[in-house]
Amino acid sequence: MQIPPFSLEAQISDIGEEIEEVLIRVFRSGKYIGGQEVASFEQALASKIQTSYSVSCNSGTDALILALRALNIGEDDEVITSSFSFFATAEAISSVGARPVFIDIDPENYLMDLRLIDKAITPRTKAILPVHLFGYPIDMDKLIAIAEQNNLKVIEDCAQAIGSSWRGKPVGSFGDVGCFSFFPTKNLGAAGDGGAITTNDFDLAKRIRELAIHGMPKRYVHTKIGYNSRLDELQAAILNVKVIRLNKWIKQRQEIANNYINNLSFVEAIKLPSNSLNNNVGHSWNQFVIRILDDSFVKNKPENAEIVVGSENRDLFKTELQRLGVNTIIYYPIPIHLQPAYKDLGYKAGSLPITEKVCNQVISLPIFPELETIQQSYIIDTIKRIFKE
Ligand SMILES: *Cc1c(COP(=O)(O)O)cnc(C)c1O
Repeated sequence: MQIPPFSLEAQISDIGEEIEEVLIRVFRSGKYIGGQEVASFEQALASKIQTSYSVSCNSGTDALILALRALNIGEDDEVITSSFSFFATAEAISSVGARPVFIDIDPENYLMDLRLIDKAITPRTKAILPVHLFGYPIDMDKLIAIAEQNNLKVIEDCAQAIGSSWRGKPVGSFGDVGCFSFFPTKNLGAAGDGGAITTNDFDLAKRIRELAIHGMPKRYVHTKIGYNSRLDELQAAILNVKVIRLNKWIKQRQEIANNYINNLSFVEAIKLPSNSLNNNVGHSWNQFVIRILDDSFVKNKPENAEIVVGSENRDLFKTELQRLGVNTIIYYPIPIHLQPAYKDLGYKAGSLPITEKVCNQVISLPIFPELETIQQSYIIDTIKRIFKE
């Protein structure tokens, strides 16, 4: 059996025809930018996230950049965030001229450790940028309380977390602004790039919309240096077909996650994701990330394989899974603070010990709504077999 880490094949056979009809209709309309599909999608998103406004744009990265710019964050400002994320989180901060300040993560949920924020605040700190990584929502009550005490803005990176909630309230509705991505592998994916922001602040929504269209509040009057960042009608049309299925897909992801958790909890060599023991957590399972604990692979060590602390133990496990047909991805092998592009920020190996250790141990098991029961069982059995459990 060959199992991909992610596949759209089943989804395309399920709703492909419906999408094709919509695409043809939009294509023949000749209206490609700023039409009814975009307007409907923005409404659908705002209603899903329970915010007053939503503004669509070209990507999740742009959503973060537009949010930072609209909050007047730039040169000489600092933004506190996590180094354990997709690079775009920090890249957006740097793109507006500000400096990302990374704090270490909580090893239980891989999210920024809220206890470390206070120490990271300086007179230059303007905002906190939490990432609801893999779909796990960060404790927004605590985070907002810290932000309010210190007069900081909050920009939620919800790129992996559409469908996640904290205490029953959707992520993206707590901070000053929520940023979403519709990259194809996200929980709600377009057929290309797409993004959006959500907010309850009318002026902020207005500023973001203007920035996304060349800083142009009125036709051919440009009050700011902005961007060309729009969701187009074709992508919005696809998202409109998909968004009404999102709840069902999230439920399917949750069922798969529960199945993994129930059947792998006795495998001592791996650390499962901290699941919803916490009733406040509404997890949307964009990724199912386990950790291969140090030296755990030893039992099944191929001849001559050296087991050393570092990523080799995990890498060996990945190779063995692949040999047996289970294909996986590492989110993320290198923390952002150790990326070559950030060598000038002054971080070094050891700066964020938990983040660095976790990067060496994580591996994401296949999870997507259409992953069949038989495939799930095969993945579970293969892992048990590798660890001889
Ligand atoms: C995907 C992602 C982004 C960027 O979204 P794009 O639409 O690819 O630009 C930002 N942050 C996180 C955590 C992501 O996973």
